[in-house]
Amino acid sequence: MEDDKYPNAHKKILASVQTPVVGEAGFTSTWRTMRPVINLDKCVVVVKDKHNCHMCWLFCPEGTISRTIPPKVNYDYCKGCGICAHECPHNAIEMIEEGDNKSCPV
Ligand code: SF4
Ligand code: SF4
Repeated sequence: MEDDKYPNAHKKILASVQTPVVGEAGFTSTWRTMRPVINLDKCVVVVKDKHNCHMCWLFCPEGTISRTIPPKVNYDYCKGCGICAHECPHNAIEMIEEGDNKSCPV
């Protein structure tokens, strides 16, 4: 029988997600040109009220999306790379230009 050194590992979320900090260039929000906007009508964790996706949280290289219902973007640290929008399996994230007057629901 296999030695079970980590008996509760399957109950934990095993992911490497960093905590954002201010870098030498300051807050990324000061130079970002695009920003992600989450459409809560399309986001499956909101629609199903279950933690059943969170791919945006997992793939964001800056760790700026929360693993919550609804997911929230920390715009102080988001650099506008668009990876979250690319990885969202439900096309719930749209990248819009900074300065666009479109309102952000989160
Ligand atoms: S990846 Fe898309 S559908 Fe999944 S939690 Fe994020 S916004 Fe919602
Ligand atoms: S645009 Fe990039 S930095 Fe901003 S929340 Fe999405 S993945 Fe993270």
